[in-house]
Amino acid sequence: MRLGVGEIEAALNGTLPAPVALSDLRGDFHMHCTWSDGSATLEEMIAGVAARGYEYHAISDHSWGRKGFGLDPADLRAQRARIAELGARHGVATLCASEVDILPDGSLDYDDDVLESLDFVIASVHSATHQSRDEMTARLLRACENRYVNVIGHPTGRGEAFAGYEFDFDAVFAAAARTGTALEIDGHPSRLDLPSGLARRAKQLGCTFSLDSDAHGADQLEHVAYAVGQARRAWIEASDVLNARTLEGVGAFVSAKRAR
Ligand SMILES: [Zn+2]
Ligand SMILES: [Zn+2]
Repeated sequence: MRLGVGEIEAALNGTLPAPVALSDLRGDFHMHCTWSDGSATLEEMIAGVAARGYEYHAISDHSWGRKGFGLDPADLRAQRARIAELGARHGVATLCASEVDILPDGSLDYDDDVLESLDFVIASVHSATHQSRDEMTARLLRACENRYVNVIGHPTGRGEAFAGYEFDFDAVFAAAARTGTALEIDGHPSRLDLPSGLARRAKQLGCTFSLDSDAHGADQLEHVAYAVGQARRAWIEASDVLNARTLEGVGAFVSAKRAR
């Protein structure tokens, strides 16, 4: 937290927050398995999650627009049946989720009836990253307004292998806070997105955060620690973090947005 952004003054005033810790997390919403582009099977991911002592997690494979590895609606139904069986075997609550592409116009890569059938939805930009700042802002605002979107995944698109994109951060963060949409801090080492400076700004605007591994293998579940590191630099506390809530609390967050 030694970033020269008021931490000394806050400490002197006794108002330095207690930042979120890894041990505060009860689950992880963002991970892939061999059903899309992950390297571990569905069961290996569920077993890996159970071994970490989480109470719940989401399997969030890619939507069908990701040509070659995305899931179509029939795949999602089949995956749900398999998840019900495996989650019970490993003693962890597995949410049936998706990392759905946000299409260039801000609509999503599944129809509403498919989205409604899911327990949890992460929406991410993976294409048309060349859009203008205004186009990308409108695209992300529309995604926030979608009642089925619970998290905006890796919100800026930054990363080692990814060209980020420009948008009006304050407008999108304010919309996320207003609509009950969490912003992700993606701990995958190639992403670390949101970065801590923007995460701090989002916290000031009242946002909720999802700290995720974006694991593509069971050995990558530990990447969530890097998300926690970014969050701590942003003064984010456990009360700001969706996956520090109980499973009932997560369900309430999802239901509240669907009821809008
Ligand atoms: Zn993604
Ligand atoms: Zn992902």
